[in-house]
Amino acid sequence: MRKIELYWQILIAFCLAIVFGILFKNAVPYVSWMGVVFLKGLNMVIIPLIVSSMISGVVNIGDAKNLGRVGLKTMSYFILTSIVALFTGLILVNLIKPGVGAELGLHQNPLELSLTKVTFGDVLLNIVPSNIVKAMVENQILSIIFFSLLFGFFITKTEVKYKSILSEFFNAIFEVMMKLTMFIIKFTPLGIFGIIAKLVAEQENLGALFSRLGLYGLVVILGLVIHSGITLPLLIKIFAKVNPINHFKAVREPLLTAFSTSSSSATLPLTMEAVEHKSGVSNTISSFVLPLGATINMNGTALYELVAAMFIAQAYGIDLSFGQQLILVVTGLLASIGSAGIPMAGMVMMSVILSSVGLPLEGIGLILAIDRFLDMFRTTVNVWGDTCGAVIIAKSEGETLKI
Ligand code: ASP
Repeated sequence: MRKIELYWQILIAFCLAIVFGILFKNAVPYVSWMGVVFLKGLNMVIIPLIVSSMISGVVNIGDAKNLGRVGLKTMSYFILTSIVALFTGLILVNLIKPGVGAELGLHQNPLELSLTKVTFGDVLLNIVPSNIVKAMVENQILSIIFFSLLFGFFITKTEVKYKSILSEFFNAIFEVMMKLTMFIIKFTPLGIFGIIAKLVAEQENLGALFSRLGLYGLVVILGLVIHSGITLPLLIKIFAKVNPINHFKAVREPLLTAFSTSSSSATLPLTMEAVEHKSGVSNTISSFVLPLGATINMNGTALYELVAAMFIAQAYGIDLSFGQQLILVVTGLLASIGSAGIPMAGMVMMSVILSSVGLPLEGIGLILAIDRFLDMFRTTVNVWGDTCGAVIIAKSEGETLKI
């Protein structure tokens, strides 16, 4: 029998899970464990994968000059595309004004959610870990990346005999981690079946939700569609001379996984596999750009933060000046960088944005109801943005791709 491609397996599992979640609500606990185990498996590999890939990436890039050049290109790509996403959201939310006249009854008390108030200063300070083992235990990915970058960099500064042993060693560990990852990826259809069946069964009344928050949700989704369907494809077409559709086909498994798990971090193992083996980006570039991207490059989250803040302002009848809207763009960018690649992380960062222009924090209660749903879309765009970045940077370094 011909083997069905993994992408189709995932898509079929996704559709079956929706049907299952609707028809057999009571049987969902019997299948949801598959999602739990799958996510555990992905989380299990994330830290060793990030550490080994960042270290081997930095060592393979080589000297400080090359590292500086690739690092600069990567950061510029992340920041510029996030700014374009933010302005896309800003223009749409000013044109459509979804919050004007929106009903103000708070649907859930945000205080119940124990929203911790994080400032961008905290995020920056926390990048430097006081204890790397603790950072690993607590999944502080930015700190882990920071340490791995330094570690890799100083490997290149050691004596030649050590340098070659260490680079071989980390390349070998990375190879093992990729193989282990590929093994877990085989179970994606089962995992996604469990996750989606549970998600569908938990939704109370989707129709009622949408009649209340529909326009706001539509503006977010429209912005995400424009950014991922027009802006990013244009960028890879122009700067990497790559057919965006071919690249999309290469990365559709991670994209579906991002949509189902709402987590860029959990998707990272699949993203790395697809970008390297299907799009043909070198291991050196993908193992540097993608872990960094999964943690700090969140175009979808940036766009969502901005639309959500403007929606809240409009719903409270607060007129924000152009200057204040620019402050929202800047804090939106910082909040997207500071958000972890886990479900609903972007919403937690909303407090940073709202307080930057003095908007009421209770406003978060307004958007909570459909946040988990929007998270699926914005995470997919986050991951798509990372993969496009890897392709553009690889091309700019003179690589030949498979797409
Ligand atoms: N869930 C998103 C991600 O992992 C972050 C967010 O909540 O916006 O990319």
